[in-house]
Amino acid sequence: MLNIVLFGPPGAGKGTQSANLIKKYNLNHISTGDLFRKHLSEGSELGKLAQQYMNEGNLVPDKVVIGMVEDHLDQNTEAKGYIFDGFPRTVAQAEALDRVLQKRDTPINLMMALEVPEDELRVRLLERGKISGRPDDQNVEKINNRIKVYINETMPVADYYKKQNKFVAVNGVGEINHIFQNLCHEIDSVN
Ligand code: AMP
Repeated sequence: MLNIVLFGPPGAGKGTQSANLIKKYNLNHISTGDLFRKHLSEGSELGKLAQQYMNEGNLVPDKVVIGMVEDHLDQNTEAKGYIFDGFPRTVAQAEALDRVLQKRDTPINLMMALEVPEDELRVRLLERGKISGRPDDQNVEKINNRIKVYINETMPVADYYKKQNKFVAVNGVGEINHIFQNLCHEIDSVN
């Protein structure tokens, strides 16, 4: 079992790199943002609840996120491991994830943080908004709010994993494949 948290601000490349990593290591991808967007497109109650937070670039309440992740884990028990992308985003989520994984006897092996300067993030998110049509990527205010939320609420999660000696930083600027190779190198050193 190989459980990895892929960490980083919005626009750091977590989705792109997760897609490559799940193929190479045969892992299950848990992107909480993607799961919320799926609920939204299906018009579920969970989707409606999440929408108000997502529209403003705020975090969906911890309890809702954790419940959704637990459901996903229960539905994918045959997986060889998971890549958590965009989760945990608060220390409470990280603690809850540890409890959930402890029950399954499959702890987090590694947290990899993709580091990208703020100015580059803004450029990337606006570009992505043009292509994907994601409403939270269209508008500079919403983007700024997401970066602010990341700094205030999500960055402390890095310290949580540093204390467990599971944290590594990876430069998220440059060639996608070069960044991918660096991520693989970090995984191979714990796997
Ligand atoms: P993402 O696709 O990861 O950028 O997530 C899009 C939006 O979904 C975020 O701005 C939040 O509103 C919500 N979201 C995704 N993951 C989480 C999470 N772990 N905790 C709280 N809200 C989340």
